[in-house]
Amino acid sequence: MPANTSRVQAIQDITRRTLPPPTTPPSLESLWASDVYTLAKMQQHLPKEVFKSLKKTIETGATLDIKVADVVAAAMKEWATARGALFYAHVFYPLTNATAEKHDGFISVQGDGTVITEFSGKVLVQGEPDGSSFPNGGIRGTSHARGYTAWDVTSPAYIMETSNGSSLCIPTVFVSWTGEALDKKTPLLRSIAAMNKAAKRMLTVLGSKEIATVNSSCGAEQEYFLVDAAFAAARPDLVIAGRTLFGKPPAKAQQFDDHYFGAIAERVQTFMQEVEQRMYKLGIPAKTRHNEVAPGQFEIAPFFEAANVASDHQQLTMTILKNTAKRHGLVCLLHEKPFAGINGSGKHVNWSVGNATHGNLLDPGDAPHDNLQFLVFCGAVIRMVHKYGALLRAVVATASNDHRLGANEAPPAIMSVYLGTQLEDVFKQIQRGSLTGSKAKSIMNLGVDSLPTFAKDPGDRNRTSPFAFTGNRFEFRAVGSGQSVSGPLVAMNTMLADSLTWMAEKLEGAVASGTPLTAAALSLLKVIMDEHGAVVFDGNGYSAEWHKLAEERGLPNLPSCAEALPVLKEKAIEDLFSRQGVLTPVELASRFDVYAEQYIHAIEVEAKLVISMAKTQVFPAAMSYLSSLSDTLTKLSALKIEAPTETATKVATLAKSMMASVTKLGEALGKHDFDSTEKHLVHSAKTIRPLMDEVRKSVDALEAEVGDQHWPLPTYQEMLFIK
Ligand code: ADP
Ligand code: MG
Repeated sequence: MPANTSRVQAIQDITRRTLPPPTTPPSLESLWASDVYTLAKMQQHLPKEVFKSLKKTIETGATLDIKVADVVAAAMKEWATARGALFYAHVFYPLTNATAEKHDGFISVQGDGTVITEFSGKVLVQGEPDGSSFPNGGIRGTSHARGYTAWDVTSPAYIMETSNGSSLCIPTVFVSWTGEALDKKTPLLRSIAAMNKAAKRMLTVLGSKEIATVNSSCGAEQEYFLVDAAFAAARPDLVIAGRTLFGKPPAKAQQFDDHYFGAIAERVQTFMQEVEQRMYKLGIPAKTRHNEVAPGQFEIAPFFEAANVASDHQQLTMTILKNTAKRHGLVCLLHEKPFAGINGSGKHVNWSVGNATHGNLLDPGDAPHDNLQFLVFCGAVIRMVHKYGALLRAVVATASNDHRLGANEAPPAIMSVYLGTQLEDVFKQIQRGSLTGSKAKSIMNLGVDSLPTFAKDPGDRNRTSPFAFTGNRFEFRAVGSGQSVSGPLVAMNTMLADSLTWMAEKLEGAVASGTPLTAAALSLLKVIMDEHGAVVFDGNGYSAEWHKLAEERGLPNLPSCAEALPVLKEKAIEDLFSRQGVLTPVELASRFDVYAEQYIHAIEVEAKLVISMAKTQVFPAAMSYLSSLSDTLTKLSALKIEAPTETATKVATLAKSMMASVTKLGEALGKHDFDSTEKHLVHSAKTIRPLMDEVRKSVDALEAEVGDQHWPLPTYQEMLFIK
């Protein structure tokens, strides 16, 4: 049987696939939040007093009374069991970027052997999963296994359906027996509280009396790849690592720019529509879909929501994308760089802060020079990205994102802020000490009477900046596609809280000593621009010149996790998180340990795959091709026909060099004695990773030589173009 049988079979299967028969989609109204226990449903089902008390907890963070919890639990159970749920699950978010859930039945066995359903307030608000197998970075040994989950009332409960059942899901935080956060939600809630406190203090200094709770908002654009399941299953690297470790570049890739925003293939759109319907049922406001730059790459973006809910919804979106893909014979790849040499996937985190009394605090309005509140909040952002840029880099540091940052149209690993022409000009005026006005919107006339004239935005967009102002929010574009958005949100909220606190203190002092507020604020913003303005960059972030300029400006460039993760151990970062009450030193240290370990494991798993695929798939392919080639060459020589031996020599040479690199990689993997985690990180990044690339070079060169019939792995061309 030829080695390419499974590839050929996959191609046949794919070309014979048919689309499901057309159905009429349900209306948005009937779908929307139908699987969510919304406030509206609670209001309907709960006694007035109970609902009022619960709403107060949700809106102000007041402690939930256990008697209230009992009534809520009973109503929630009624609703869920009526929808067919037999089980409930406390859902939480461990440090792995994954979603975790422990399911328990509503079943309660009675003395007489009959069963009833039962769900108390205590069980709703608190769970106790044995959490010893979750990464905790040394916070808790396996002998101290107790972990608690606690209901996060600010994120609604929902029903997760499968084809033959459903479970009630309760979003929770996950903490150790000693009270330390073992998850990504607890710090997020703390960071929102810290930001609220600092923002309120600042708004008070700026003269506001009535100030509602300030929250941060997040809209996360999710990029992803779709590959046919038949191809993916034939590639151990895709199955295990979520990316291709080998693969020769296809003749056609993305050079025609014909995929971005191209017409969506029907098979893909059918998949997207099912994803969106599932999202709507779970109350996730899916809003935008389009083809992305790379062939086989797509994007989905929801309408933005409060950061905590957006983060839970983002986790659900990733789950839905993966599960739904399976139902359509596809695999959804959330890896940041599934295909070398082709655009990677990010998750652009759009972030703003605001409240009910003041609206969006990052909205500049038409005359930003006249909007002191905006200038102060924007100045706080400029300061925070300059002061803690390395932290922003650290929170997007994963083994997979290392492949993306700085490669093919992804932001570099240097953090800078893009403000746009109008705002940059305003801040330059402030720095010069003469603030006079803002560049105005201009009118664009398209020269065709039937087309409308429209107002042109005062600033263009910059796709090359890792942290760009986009009209009324900042867009953090360095976040990886497979990451939880929580880490980046925690960092941004905490950094902003810190900047605002520092600024509020200065302003309070200045005003108390008689300086008029506006003058005090403008002179503080001038100080910020003088000290931190170096982080503002308008140009092409992808260019080599920027790397040079950034170095001159003293901005850190941390290309890999080996440089980026140790930032979490710096004293300034520990102080920042402690001061804002977001992470204790122990919690922060545990995060470094967990993320470093994950990085080391990820590289180790990939290196092992490289070795096994090279030895058991590529080498045999090269040998079987050589064997059939040499048979033919011998026969030709016997007939005294001049034999073309170059290919055989080339394949033999490449196979030999591939095996030599495999041996070196195996030896490097065998090294286990490191004095520190930092040294182990460096070994993974600087020794193992380059050796993997070395093996790959030979493998990809072999793919270009070995006869197609002998090649076992689906190619880039097949995976990216056969739909
Ligand atoms: P782009 O043109 O940058 O690709 P998209 O429309 O794909 O933009 O996504 C923009 C995201 O930003 C959406 O999720 C949108 O809801 C979100 N967004 C818009 N305004 C805000 C805001 N004030 N705060 C946070 N996110 C916002
Ligand atoms: Mg977009």
